[in-house]
Amino acid sequence: MISRRDQIREKIMARVEIDEGTGCYNWTGPTSGETGRGKDYPRMSLSGQTVAVHKVMWTNEHGFIPGKKELDHACRNRRCVRPDAGHVELVTRKENARRRERAKRSMLGHNSGRALECAETTP
Ligand SMILES: [Zn+2]
Repeated sequence: MISRRDQIREKIMARVEIDEGTGCYNWTGPTSGETGRGKDYPRMSLSGQTVAVHKVMWTNEHGFIPGKKELDHACRNRRCVRPDAGHVELVTRKENARRRERAKRSMLGHNSGRALECAETTP
């Protein structure tokens, strides 16, 4: 007999494409949409509820997520649902915010060059 855990894992893995380069489990099913803060996160329907796939996958493998902890995409690939270190990791809220800030800063680094160019060409 197949356990509910295995059923859930199989249901998810049936819609995943494994990226052999990065090891990411890329979700090919529906996501939370194209816009907004929480965009591009994998979504699925489970027991009649819409749930975040990476969360289901993680709790299915490792268990309950404590209140002060969150899941972080260490691989920075929102569609990845792999519940392993280097991909979807359990971190404290503080650590998650720190990582987000760091990612944002490195993005700003790219954009500030362009913003300067714009400023220079504005009459
Ligand atoms: Zn990944």
